[in-house]
Amino acid sequence: MRIIEPSFQILDELDRASAAVRLEACGRVCYKSEDKIGDDSAIPFVTRIAAHGHNSVLEMAVVSYRLRCREEAVAALLACQPRFLVIDREEGGLLVTASMRAYREIFAAHGDNALLALLRRDLRVTCPYLFPAGEEDGSVPSGADGVDLRRLSLTEVDELPDELRLRHRFVAVRFIVNRAVTHELVRHRPCSFLQESQRYCRYSEDKFGSEVTFIKPVFFAEGSAEYRLWQGAMEETERVYFRLLETSTPQAARTVLPNSCKTEIIVFCNLVEWRHIFALRTTPAAEPSMREIMIPLQKEMERRYRIR
Ligand SMILES: Cc1cc2nc3c(=O)[nH]c(=O)nc-3n(C[C@H](O)[C@H](O)[C@H](O)COP(=O)(O)OP(=O)(O)OC[C@H]3O[C@@H](n4cnc5c(N)ncnc54)[C@H](O)[C@@H]3O)c2cc1C
Repeated sequence: MRIIEPSFQILDELDRASAAVRLEACGRVCYKSEDKIGDDSAIPFVTRIAAHGHNSVLEMAVVSYRLRCREEAVAALLACQPRFLVIDREEGGLLVTASMRAYREIFAAHGDNALLALLRRDLRVTCPYLFPAGEEDGSVPSGADGVDLRRLSLTEVDELPDELRLRHRFVAVRFIVNRAVTHELVRHRPCSFLQESQRYCRYSEDKFGSEVTFIKPVFFAEGSAEYRLWQGAMEETERVYFRLLETSTPQAARTVLPNSCKTEIIVFCNLVEWRHIFALRTTPAAEPSMREIMIPLQKEMERRYRIR
């Protein structure tokens, strides 16, 4: 067995990658199949994932638009009750940010809305594998005349006034932590998550070092009696898990794995939500294993994204 410290990584290098590359990099965390990433693997992977309905992968890339349009068009869009779109009014129109999943689902539900039809047409150009051609593509949707739509670059989002920037700038963080911490993280509902799956990962395989990895508990000093007790329990757990794998699937064998088990999770949300998470998860009331990782992350995020 292996014992490691918890860690985090802000995935800013993916912010400038194509949507397909970004979605693949995030999606493969679930299967720990990052070794399969190649020059041409992204679009087939994302297409397959979408066909299988593993939809949370499609939440890991967002696109922002500035729309100049009349008040009636704004009202018609808001009447669609776009729950998973971040929408702000600007002089003469709207600022809209949403994930690929949110766009796909609202397009499917409200194909006749003029602004949504224009957004769909734009997304089709760069991501045809997620927004396939439709019958409506040939005609200009009624109510779309006079609309000016422009996709914003990441730099433009970063340069928005603070109040808008915090809502429209999304940041992904990959955590390597224990499963008690991820259980708490996934309570933050505005976030999108992708997590290493104990159903698919077979820790007896070579690529996992043929061992189970555990996160060093913050509670017990190394070498103390409590630490030795904990370590003995993890050794026994690993032994039983491997015994079960001789005759059972990973999803059956994992029933013996404890909270201390190492897992990876990607958390993706806007800066307003990150600020909320830090407010709850860094105070003395928060769980110590959570604070152990959130306090340094908060410092780093404040430095990079001015979220204080
Ligand atoms: C110290 C501490 C102890 C805790 N103890 C327990 C416990 O014993 N048992 C337990 O079950 N949980 C516990 N929790 C979890 C806690 O109750 C929340 O579920 C978790 O912190 C998520 O935060 P949140 O609900 O503020 O907001 P998030 O889910 O992060 O949402 C962000 C914001 O979105 C809005 N929002 C999202 N969804 C809704 C909604 N459905 N309705 C209204 N507004 C919404 C709210 O404005 C919210 O502030 C604990 C959390 C902390 C920090």
